[in-house]
Amino acid sequence: MNTIPALKLKPSGRHRILRGHPWVFGNEVEEVIASDSDLAHLYTSKGTLLGTGVYNPQSQIVFRRLSRQMISLDERFISEKIDQAIHHRRSLPLLSESKRIIWSEADGLPGLIVDSFPPYIVVQTLTKAMSNREELICRILQERFLPKGILLRNDAQVRSLEGLPMGKTIFSGTEPFQTEVQFGKIKFPVDLMQGHKTGFYLDQIENYTEIAKVAANRRVLDIFSYQGGFSLSALKAGATSCLAIDQDATALERAKVAAELNGVKLETQQGNAFDLLRQYEQEGRNFDLIILDPPSFTKNKANIESAMRGYHDLHVRAVKLLTPGGLLATFCCSHNITAAEWEEMVSFAASDVNTLLRFRKSFRQNPDHPIILQIPESSYLYGSLYEKIG
Ligand code: SAH
Repeated sequence: MNTIPALKLKPSGRHRILRGHPWVFGNEVEEVIASDSDLAHLYTSKGTLLGTGVYNPQSQIVFRRLSRQMISLDERFISEKIDQAIHHRRSLPLLSESKRIIWSEADGLPGLIVDSFPPYIVVQTLTKAMSNREELICRILQERFLPKGILLRNDAQVRSLEGLPMGKTIFSGTEPFQTEVQFGKIKFPVDLMQGHKTGFYLDQIENYTEIAKVAANRRVLDIFSYQGGFSLSALKAGATSCLAIDQDATALERAKVAAELNGVKLETQQGNAFDLLRQYEQEGRNFDLIILDPPSFTKNKANIESAMRGYHDLHVRAVKLLTPGGLLATFCCSHNITAAEWEEMVSFAASDVNTLLRFRKSFRQNPDHPIILQIPESSYLYGSLYEKIG
């Protein structure tokens, strides 16, 4: 007997799922022939099967497609997807042994994030179906990677949108879950129980190494430094000095410890970036390389305008602090803002202070966070390097 619910799409509407996107929102659904399950089959209004997906009537995104066929989210299916994801990672340039192994929809497993921080694995489940299968998933990962421990970092806020509880649990191994992330010449101590995301911004690793290529002999300002990934890369590559600023004192302390471990001298300043940049301008300070990696000021489309004003303000201040010939590396991590909109904002900010910027190169998220063309949300981190030419 088939107890899996069937969802029928409304006859009209611009359903993104018809163009390859995996999601269906609650308001796109005409009829639910329901039973109590975390999986569903999806049909067009005319009854054509569109596939099987994870299902959660409590979420705005009620359905996320797993397959165009009728499938079960069982050991065979999950193992196959994990193996495909591992295989894909093998084809990428190896920047670090620490890497993202599974990235949710972009690896065909909606709501599952797996990061490898040898000798540990960190797992995050963000959909009900994946949450319900944590045991199975961790067992497969244990077999594949033979880690010293697996940590479930289910403390991401987005879990509440799925009606899931938040917390951190240990599947295997014992505390402390401490290790080192290595990239380039850097060894970065991380505590996987703490820290943003699953412990480290793995999505910036390639960009850390790109910054290292241009940092020699420059005085660097790392704005929104967090625990100093950019700062350390710059210093290790021969930057004359580096000042890291962030409002999070604990993150700056970690940056200091990491700097010491790597034999470089990092200056830090705790405070609000907007205020500090104004203060530096008044003091007549300047820098030859500025890294600007702000958090997302937009969580939805409603506050884009005020977010853009904030970003514009930051860029005006940063450009003023740059010496002629100085470099600005700027990053956007909000998928609500397109790369073109970001570029226009940077351009306007620079011209507001009568400055021209020459484009040098663009940045994307680390390739272990795959971008699927049909899923715009999977492309969420980009940036550019500019040179101030006058
Ligand atoms: N560049 C970092 C990641 C930045 S995450 C890296 O590569 O690791 C964003 C950081 O901005 C967080 O550390 C947060 O503490 C900081 N932040 C947010 N708002 C801030 C503000 N107004 N002033 C200073 N820091 C801020």
